[in-house]
Amino acid sequence: MTELDVLLIAAHPDDAEISAGGTILRLVDAGARVGILDITRGEMGTRGTPEDRAAEAAKATEVLGLAWRGNLEQPDGRVQVTVDARERLAKHLRELRPELVLSHHLDDPHPDHEASARLAKEAWYLSGLKQLAKITGGPDAKRPAQLAHFQSHTQFEPTFIVDIEPVWERKREAVLAYATQLEPAGTGDDGKHFLYGVDILERVETKARAYGERIGGRYGEPILCREPVSFASPLVKWLASPAG
Ligand SMILES: [Zn+2]
Repeated sequence: MTELDVLLIAAHPDDAEISAGGTILRLVDAGARVGILDITRGEMGTRGTPEDRAAEAAKATEVLGLAWRGNLEQPDGRVQVTVDARERLAKHLRELRPELVLSHHLDDPHPDHEASARLAKEAWYLSGLKQLAKITGGPDAKRPAQLAHFQSHTQFEPTFIVDIEPVWERKREAVLAYATQLEPAGTGDDGKHFLYGVDILERVETKARAYGERIGGRYGEPILCREPVSFASPLVKWLASPAG
């Protein structure tokens, strides 16, 4: 059975790379075993077939050096916080045993992101319930020590800004793995849609530079913790030392 130190829970393949690719690379470089659980296969996307998207996710997985990647196979565009989905997610947490879970912000305007964040929050809690583990089968109860959030669409004042300058080129490569998502959508797409096409990389870079500036660096990624953070927290443990 694969055991992880850190698990990212993201709605669509490419969300984790775009929002937290640099943080993932910093964690992997620090020796952490990192995995991504995509909630959907992104099959409602304007561009690319599900097969294209699976091949792109496999390429990005390699660039990031992930120890594991899985999919909860919920319907893209229609993710809901059902009892079944959150209990299956809780079972993944008990099997993978990460000490840190990272997901979207709970108020993200994209309904799939918001639902995925809520699934992550509820499954995080449920993973620690002994009776539920008995009823639903699988490994014993084990709740990850820390649940934190990466930034997709909702701006927030970060608890931490991760210095991603040392891994910036590799983060770009991981985002570029999603070639179909970076192509112009064709007529009518002027590149200004919320998430459309050609401006994804530019938006990723603008945001990274803005957060990098705030820590006196070149590129940064914001992380939000909703609770006070102990010096013993997994985030501090893995990322307190300078990269490289
Ligand atoms: Zn998404």
